[in-house]
Amino acid sequence: LKHNCPGLGFFAVIAVASIATGTLVSFGASMFLNDMPLLIWLATGAGASLLVFFAFGATILRPSVKQCRSSFSKLQIMSKVFEASSEAVIVTDIENKIIDVNAAFTHITGFKRSEVLGKDPGIMKSDRHGSEFYRQMWDEIRSSGSWQGEVWDRRKDGEVYPKWLTIKCLKDSNGNVQKYIGVFSDISTMKESEELHDFLAHYDNLTHLPNRALYNDRIREAMAEADKSDHMAALLLVDLDRFKYINDTVGHAAGDILLKVTAERIQSCIRDRDTVARIGGDEFAVILTGVVKKNIAVSVAKKIIEAMHPIVKAGHHELRTTASVGITIYPNDGDKPNVLLKNAEIAMYLAKDSGNNTYRSFTSDMQEKVQERLRVESNLRQAIENDELVLHYQPQVDLVTGRLSGMEALIRRQESDWLVPPGVFIPVAEETGLIMPIAEWTLKESCSQIVTWLKEGLNPPRVAVNISATHFNSPSFVQNIRDVLDETGLSANLLEVELTERVIMHQANEVLEKIDELKSMGIQISIDDFGTGYSSLSYLKRFKVDKLKIDYSFIKDLMDGPDSGAAIIVKTIITLAHNLGLTVIAEGVEKKEQLDFLVNEGCDEIQGFYFSFPLPSDKFHALLKENKPLFADAPGIKAS
Ligand code: C2E
Ligand code: MG
Ligand code: MG
Repeated sequence: LKHNCPGLGFFAVIAVASIATGTLVSFGASMFLNDMPLLIWLATGAGASLLVFFAFGATILRPSVKQCRSSFSKLQIMSKVFEASSEAVIVTDIENKIIDVNAAFTHITGFKRSEVLGKDPGIMKSDRHGSEFYRQMWDEIRSSGSWQGEVWDRRKDGEVYPKWLTIKCLKDSNGNVQKYIGVFSDISTMKESEELHDFLAHYDNLTHLPNRALYNDRIREAMAEADKSDHMAALLLVDLDRFKYINDTVGHAAGDILLKVTAERIQSCIRDRDTVARIGGDEFAVILTGVVKKNIAVSVAKKIIEAMHPIVKAGHHELRTTASVGITIYPNDGDKPNVLLKNAEIAMYLAKDSGNNTYRSFTSDMQEKVQERLRVESNLRQAIENDELVLHYQPQVDLVTGRLSGMEALIRRQESDWLVPPGVFIPVAEETGLIMPIAEWTLKESCSQIVTWLKEGLNPPRVAVNISATHFNSPSFVQNIRDVLDETGLSANLLEVELTERVIMHQANEVLEKIDELKSMGIQISIDDFGTGYSSLSYLKRFKVDKLKIDYSFIKDLMDGPDSGAAIIVKTIITLAHNLGLTVIAEGVEKKEQLDFLVNEGCDEIQGFYFSFPLPSDKFHALLKENKPLFADAPGIKAS
């Protein structure tokens, strides 16, 4: 205002100049007019003064007055802005005592204007910042005239909140600070979303454990800590066994529950200062710091494996799971985070290979075994591409007629001059997802083989195809079977699907539906490796299966004698199957004693080396052509 409005002094100068001009004009006029009356003299002087005054006023004062008026209106606007601003404004004097605040200040802090006037803004301080923080802030205000940053203050009700604060000094024309103006906004909501964002970037949504990104930071920290001390760091890679299978069988919701419980169980095995991170689907990494002896990592691994054992309830499913653990120690087993993890992975896979539910500590010779595993996988891909998979067929013999009652299709891989058995590559195929193309190929190949033989006028029996859990649980399974039957033209009653107890143990409704659909098409269903799964027998009542295949392990142990445990189990299974109206077949019969026992107990069919090895298709073709009974002592043959 002082700058824009002319002052009284200026006004006085104009007035004096006008009066002086008036006086001069009157004096000049009196020189020309003799005996000029005083009244005229005065009037001339006043007129001239007024003329000059107004002329000056018009030219000099008018714009100034205008300026003055606009400054007043600006001030009014500013004060309205000050009041209406959504950002809090606080004005303090040179001693940093509050001289004004706006409505937003009251809204954000809860303090009324009257409660803070004359006070130091320090009344709102929280204990989030130390004195050093405020010292630096004031240093900057003094040196640069302003400061901006995040400050955590306390509202009147005591709540501590973050605000974004800008402080500026108001200086006079000599550069002396007159006032401080602080403008701030409440950023607590923004902070919350920032925290959420930060959480999502560093933590796993499902288990709330650190994710892979945070794991990478933590392993580096653990390595740096080990470098500084004379301790080691350990990395334990924990992987659930058969998780993919469980997830596919019982569904993802139950799988998620299992993962959450696993996360809690692992956490309960470690100290607070250690880290558990979820770094993959069912892969958890545990970082142990301050490890003095390698044995510590081993005992934590054992504890984790043990902690996995109790049943996990997920809805109406009761899930059992185990874990395999691979251990690496820093600095012994790798000097970089990715090497430590890769080596832990190698150790973990070897733990899985040796039957799951165990741990392995990394050793350098493990590398070779991994190479072997990779070789199997890449060979398998090649085998699929190069059509190197072959099916052998093993006869199943009816113990009453002595003739072929069926044949089981068993896959092999022809690698140069040797046949790789399925036990070597099927588990790898299951893990890598290669099982699907293999499963579809097996189904199609065995069905078209039967059709070819039928077209030749031979009389092949029903073909039994082993179905993997992944294939059975895929949504397209039933459709896939329908398509294969359509494409090959095989009649459904010449196809049998072999499901293991594990595939159907969870009694999910989808399993029931799929079995019903297969049955309604006329396909026969058998339960493979019966007696080895851990499911209850109730599914036998629910699922309309046709046949039980007594597992090879019981038949093998029949050699222990007719009173052995195995003999009792086999007898019981035969009775159970017959009571339920099912056919029963014994697998892996190699010896005459086994055969005699089974005939005696009324077993319906047998499959085993005693009658025939699995045969390549040309040999099976010859067997069909021969059309001779395989079991000459069968009662049916003797009778005829
Ligand atoms: P499985 O379905 O129980 O097949 C029976 C296995 O027992 C076959 O082993 C067969 O060669 C073997 N075997 C038959 N008779 C005897 C005997 O008298 N003594 C002994 N010691 N063994 C006998 P193979 O062919 O090595 O198959 C092993 C397993 O691999 C099969 O067990 C089955 O679970 C799986 N498999 C085989 N072919 C396929 C396939 O095409 N798809 C899928 N998903 N799995 C398959
Ligand atoms: Mg089988
Ligand atoms: Mg079997």
